[in-house]
Amino acid sequence: MTSIGSPELSKMFDAIAAAIAADKDRLCQLDGVIGDADHGIAMELGFNAARDAVAGLDLAATDPTALLNTAAKSFLNAVGASSGPLYATAFMRGAAAVKGKTKLGADDAIAMFQAMAQGIKDRGKAELGEKTMVDAWQPAAEAAGAARAAGKSLADSLAVALAAAERGAEATKDMIAAKGRSSRLGERSLGHVDPGAASAVTVIGAMAQSLNSAIPGKV
Ligand code: ADP
Ligand code: MG
Repeated sequence: MTSIGSPELSKMFDAIAAAIAADKDRLCQLDGVIGDADHGIAMELGFNAARDAVAGLDLAATDPTALLNTAAKSFLNAVGASSGPLYATAFMRGAAAVKGKTKLGADDAIAMFQAMAQGIKDRGKAELGEKTMVDAWQPAAEAAGAARAAGKSLADSLAVALAAAERGAEATKDMIAAKGRSSRLGERSLGHVDPGAASAVTVIGAMAQSLNSAIPGKV
């Protein structure tokens, strides 16, 4: 395989849902410290719904844009927490970024990834340093774009993105929450990783692994 079509994107949703399910308890614990302890539940509900909705599509007759819009809608419907509209917007923006394509190459996959990050940022109106998932997604998207522009393969670009997301999530420990539920804690949010940034690392890691197996090696 040298490109990413709807079957590969469906596998990507399988991979994300499995990774989030395995991480659910940790994400709830992190949210229990500075939020309301439901982040793992919300993410699992959302990605299970997205996975199931996508699995129900006729993949031969569904292009990546329609698939990603289906994922967005089902995620939004399944999740009442603030992560619902954030990830729904991410997938809608990813859908728009690959409009008209039936197969995605490495550049398209990077464009989709960057559009997802921008969608989260636009929907949440959060800037870097406000202790949200944006602190993982934005550096990841920037790193992926820079690596690809420098001629790196998709696999290498996503590996760099994952490392940037990990650093960004870790850095949220030193931030005071300025958006969302945990902003009510003010300085008491210091010293704790933001749950949404932590789950972003899990999502990005699963995406990287899954997309790398669709476009392996040096492309
Ligand atoms: P809720 O706070 O409604 O319970 P979740 O627990 O599912 O929702 O998600 C909490 C996460 O959502 C936070 O850790 C943070 O990363 C993210 N978040 C909250 N508000 C925003 C925002 N305005 N912009 C970006 N991310 C946000
Ligand atoms: Mg919560």
